Amino acid sequence: MFENKTEVLKALTLAARRAYARGIQTGSGGNLSARIPGKNLMVVKCSGGSLADCREDGDGWITMDLDGTVSDTGVPTREWQLHAALLKGLPQAGGIVHCHAPWTISWSEKNDKIPLVTWHSKLKWGCEIPVLDIRAAVVPKEELPGILALFRQEPRLPAVVLRGHGLVAIGRNVVEAEHTAEMIEETAQICVLQGLLYQKRDKKHSYASENHGCTDKSVSYPKSKGTGR
Ligand SMILES: [Zn+2]
Repeated sequence: MFENKTEVLKALTLAARRAYARGIQTGSGGNLSARIPGKNLMVVKCSGGSLADCREDGDGWITMDLDGTVSDTGVPTREWQLHAALLKGLPQAGGIVHCHAPWTISWSEKNDKIPLVTWHSKLKWGCEIPVLDIRAAVVPKEELPGILALFRQEPRLPAVVLRGHGLVAIGRNVVEAEHTAEMIEETAQICVLQGLLYQKRDKKHSYASENHGCTDKSVSYPKSKGTGR
């Protein structure tokens, strides 16, 4: 779909602007990346910049290889290892979105998955989104094999949630990954609102505890050994 660096930069900038406009990432947090097709290279957000300020001409982005060698000026996001590991380990992934979506973070604090509470999520994902107990501001290197294993174990899995931190969405390209990130936030918002509206009044409507139509095995992730936050 996006065949060269110019097209990749356009897609990244479009995805970054959408994520900022949708409010799934404000300020200078969050980071996006995309593979340059046919090469061991990715374009990833620079450290410290805002998604709102990234530009198609390359401003706010940096090119580096998937082993960590930077072939550009600037400093990559602190999460570059997460992006490189996913793009390197998952050939089907062309783009990654990591953002600190507020409804998703709120839901993740006390729940172990984003359930399929809407028909759209059932049709689109077909499996619940697991919440991983990784308590760190930056995903530690030693957690990356476990995250990769989840995506390999369930090929339909489009994302994972990091408890109290945010979400990590993958896509065939970064625009698709951004759409998934928006949909996770929408679904988490519905979960929170349904909980607020119905949970105390009628325990039958406890959306935190029901299985919402995911008929397949759940993806599970080992509990964190406690890396601190
Ligand atoms: Zn983060």
